[in-house]
Amino acid sequence: MKTLIKNAAVYDPKNNLNEKLDILIEGKTIIEINENIKDQGYKLIDAEEKIVIPALIDMHVHLREPGYEEKETVKTGCEAAAAGGFSAVAAMPNTNPVADNPAVVEHLNLKSKEALVKVYPIGSITQGSEGKKLSEIGTLAKTGVKALSDDGQPVMNSEIMRRAMEYASAFNLPIIDHCEDKNLSKDGVMHEGYYSTIFGLQGIPAASEEVMVARDIVLAEMTGIHLHIAHLSTEGSLNLVKDAKERGVNVTFEVTPHHLILTDKAVENYNPDMKVHPPLRSKTDRDVLQKALEDGIIDVLATDHAPHTYEDKLGEFDYAANGISGLETALGLLHNFFIKEKLINWQDLVRMY
Ligand SMILES: [Zn+2]
Ligand SMILES: [Zn+2]
Repeated sequence: MKTLIKNAAVYDPKNNLNEKLDILIEGKTIIEINENIKDQGYKLIDAEEKIVIPALIDMHVHLREPGYEEKETVKTGCEAAAAGGFSAVAAMPNTNPVADNPAVVEHLNLKSKEALVKVYPIGSITQGSEGKKLSEIGTLAKTGVKALSDDGQPVMNSEIMRRAMEYASAFNLPIIDHCEDKNLSKDGVMHEGYYSTIFGLQGIPAASEEVMVARDIVLAEMTGIHLHIAHLSTEGSLNLVKDAKERGVNVTFEVTPHHLILTDKAVENYNPDMKVHPPLRSKTDRDVLQKALEDGIIDVLATDHAPHTYEDKLGEFDYAANGISGLETALGLLHNFFIKEKLINWQDLVRMY
């Protein structure tokens, strides 16, 4: 049975499509995209007033399995992804146990077979993401991991990060970098600035992110690896990455919808849902990221989808878990705040996913 989608506004930057077209599908394959495809008794979908874009890929997602199935599973996370318009996600390794060895990755690969969307595994940089000893990078590479990351934790030791980059480049794996200097962020729970003072909460300075972005750019330059900065959130980090790119360093970065939309003011009322890592930053930072979006210099949009149980987010702000769910809301938010406002168009959005 073939399906014909009629009169869709089709946006696909890769194939340079930006017009009203019909799409003919057989099984799971698109067999024709054209003007006025004749209906020969196909199953008809009228897409007048609707848009069709290529399914998106979210390269920064926490599926929580194994170990934290009460928060999310591969199955539920992939259902959320499909509902949000994603056909593939990359799963961060900070599960329990951490994906620092082939067995955990194979477990994820097995679970992913039944999932609604494709799951790309990410292996950890260090054992247990503790930042002390390198993971089995060579054997992880054989299980099909697409990148290495200790997301959730920074690799504080520069020597270990250097070695990780050297090993990773031998296997052609990029490093996805959670940039945070723990000595600077300490017990901070929100962005350090005017509002942390007003709200009486311990702050995390922008510098805790920026010093690590700077360090790892230097190390990436030295080792020649592809460094990808996860959830970039400050003006200073953006400037560092822009400078590095100009010098020809192989560095890319992603920004989350919540850092593009919200600011540290949202922490008023001590709503634990607003507790994320890195924290919601100042209006200046947020505005600079929006300008970068408008200028088309953001490499990737990624949700950092990090679901928790109701109990994890209950209680005092200081003790609530870090993280926000994003897979089901990202597309709607980006449409509402940026496409409708004409800061970007659908092609721009597709290009960044
Ligand atoms: Zn992170
Ligand atoms: Zn993350």
